[in-house]
Amino acid sequence: MPELKILTYPDPMLRKKCELVEEIDDALLTLLDNMADTMYEAPGVGLAAPQVGATKRVIVADIKPRERAQESTDEEEILLPPDRSELIELINPEIVFAEGETIHEEGCLSIPGFVSDVKRKYEVVVEGYSRDGEFIEIKCEDLLARVLQHEIDHLDGILFIDRISRLKRELLKKKIEKVLGKEEKYAVL
Ligand code: ZN
Repeated sequence: MPELKILTYPDPMLRKKCELVEEIDDALLTLLDNMADTMYEAPGVGLAAPQVGATKRVIVADIKPRERAQESTDEEEILLPPDRSELIELINPEIVFAEGETIHEEGCLSIPGFVSDVKRKYEVVVEGYSRDGEFIEIKCEDLLARVLQHEIDHLDGILFIDRISRLKRELLKKKIEKVLGKEEKYAVL
């Protein structure tokens, strides 16, 4: 399957508000397939459609490779390709419940090389649809909850750097813009 180019900051596509998916057609299924391939290859634990230039409300996520890398000391096992048994594909995802708070370091495939502590909800319930059009409800916490919040933010043009304090954001943004280029118009939450 073809991998897609991951757009990086300050690409204006990353600031677009994505449209609801109204029909699950072949083009959308191909997009989902290619997004998963791109995420695993990167490698990353999540990817949202605008990161590959599609303004559709679609995300993919899989935290299993990360957990495996943390738990295992066997390098060969870490290098095995992900089996995709825990791949999450969500169409029109929406956070319907969120509780608790947690601060953890976060990065983004579209802002390569930069991380920051980001405050997120600890536990969320996310609703959406599968590739078969089935209603899905995911109740999760900790890392998966963080990944889903991060990816759903992307669908509204929000990046993790928007979720940190203003002072930290200005400092980090300056460093990012030195390396990746300056964003013309900055969307502040
Ligand atoms: Zn991201």
